[in-house]
Amino acid sequence: MIRVNENYSKLQSSYLFSEIAKRVKTYQTENPDKKVIRLGIGDVTEPLPPACIEALHKAVDEMAARATFRGYGPEQGYDFLRAAIAQNDYQSRGAKIEADEVFVSDGSKCDTANIQELFADKLTIAIPDPVYPVYVDTNVMAGRTGKNSKGRYKGFVYMDSTEANGFVPALPDQPVDLIYLCFPNNPTGATATREQLASWVRYARENKALILFDAAYEAFIRDPSLPHSIYEIEGARDVAIEFRSFSKTAGFTGTRCAFTVVPKSVVAYTKKGDAVPLHPLWNRRHTTKFNGVSYPIQRAAEAVYSAAGKAQTRALIDFYLGNAKLIRATLADLGYRMTGGENSPYIWVNVGKDSWKFFDKLLKRAQVVTTPGAGFGRCGEGFIRISAFNSRENVEEAMKRLRKVLK
Ligand SMILES: *Cc1c(COP(=O)(O)O)cnc(C)c1O
Repeated sequence: MIRVNENYSKLQSSYLFSEIAKRVKTYQTENPDKKVIRLGIGDVTEPLPPACIEALHKAVDEMAARATFRGYGPEQGYDFLRAAIAQNDYQSRGAKIEADEVFVSDGSKCDTANIQELFADKLTIAIPDPVYPVYVDTNVMAGRTGKNSKGRYKGFVYMDSTEANGFVPALPDQPVDLIYLCFPNNPTGATATREQLASWVRYARENKALILFDAAYEAFIRDPSLPHSIYEIEGARDVAIEFRSFSKTAGFTGTRCAFTVVPKSVVAYTKKGDAVPLHPLWNRRHTTKFNGVSYPIQRAAEAVYSAAGKAQTRALIDFYLGNAKLIRATLADLGYRMTGGENSPYIWVNVGKDSWKFFDKLLKRAQVVTTPGAGFGRCGEGFIRISAFNSRENVEEAMKRLRKVLK
């Protein structure tokens, strides 16, 4: 008898974004003449930087000629891309990361989802609340939790991110083994200072814990005092794995390229307490289960680090940050408290009440789609997330409508 993985039945029935899509579709069917503006899901809207397109075209032409055609590439990524990442994202910021510690992949979603395969079944896992749902659901699927009750799974240690702590959770008051952190944060847009990250690294070192650091939004950091990578913190090389993606940095959400950094010095422990390096384990998983990102896409990603690519991606992000500034100014005028939007594309707005109700109000009265905070965890109740990913025209129109509906 084929048995099913019953852990799947513990998952919350509706994935946040499918519920939003359903409500928007229903509204749009009933009101076909209304123009809905989507500031909900975190997807980019602007085309790829010209430097990436140029590299992509060139690589496609190489694939068309016998002399330059390429078949399977190295599963971990081509050396040209791994070296460009190590140099530009890490070494140039004083972080000691080597090219062979970088694993190129087709997405940070998959990487943050798959990494938990390297760890034991029984672990104490610290999960921020609110949170990017992938970290939670993949551990539920793997059987590391009990049932869900009132929005929280038994077995996780939840770390509240609230207005009181500036949306940077305090260190857990009990020992934990695995810690998920994401800065700049999705959904809150909050950032962590060097001192705050240093306290997490210290905690991980003292407790033989591991930090999974999701830096998908690092390119939005404009405050020069903020760290872009956890490896800018002394000692992090031994206790942290970092995830990055070209999705938000350079508009690759539909193009697909990301990477995970597993330093050779990062370890997990056997039952007996012996340290086991994770680099060979992730290498084994990656080579067994993944066959590499396509050559043209890796060339397009490499172009992000060219002089033209750097200038173009910076301009692209400045554009979204300009949208974020408009959104922040509008909501501030309307008297709302918020975080994010300054070093992040997300604005996390305190709406003071039922976030799905507020979502429905904005959808039905302003035809503006946001994301209800409650979908990201219990601490998200009372907040909505507004995304700056859209055209300037749409953001301006959406803000005009919010001014009308919320005044
Ligand atoms: C968008 C996003 C990613 C990137 O996902 P990809 O699969 O690389 O597109 C990773 N983490 C968070 C928190 C995100 O919001």
